[in-house]
Amino acid sequence: MVNSNNHGRYFGICPSYHHAKACKCTVCPSYPQTGEMMFCARGTNKPSGKELGCLCSECELYKKFRLEGGYFCQNT
Ligand code: SF4
Ligand code: SF4
Repeated sequence: MVNSNNHGRYFGICPSYHHAKACKCTVCPSYPQTGEMMFCARGTNKPSGKELGCLCSECELYKKFRLEGGYFCQNT
């Protein structure tokens, strides 16, 4: 089982600069203002924030890697 405190749900995705540029997290209404992004790959160990909408489904990487779900920034 993947430990969400150490990895995102999709920890196989390389959080490279190229990929990070596509990430929508920092312009998302639910962004937890952590200064981090690419939560699908990196996960989070911060307390859960508010779910005010998730832009992941509009992200290039979401489609490319066929991700499912959203709110990867939420520690749930
Ligand atoms: S994971 Fe989804 S909800 Fe969280 S900041 Fe990124 S786009 Fe927004
Ligand atoms: S799927 Fe979501 S968390 Fe992952 S890179 Fe795209 S916007 Fe960021």
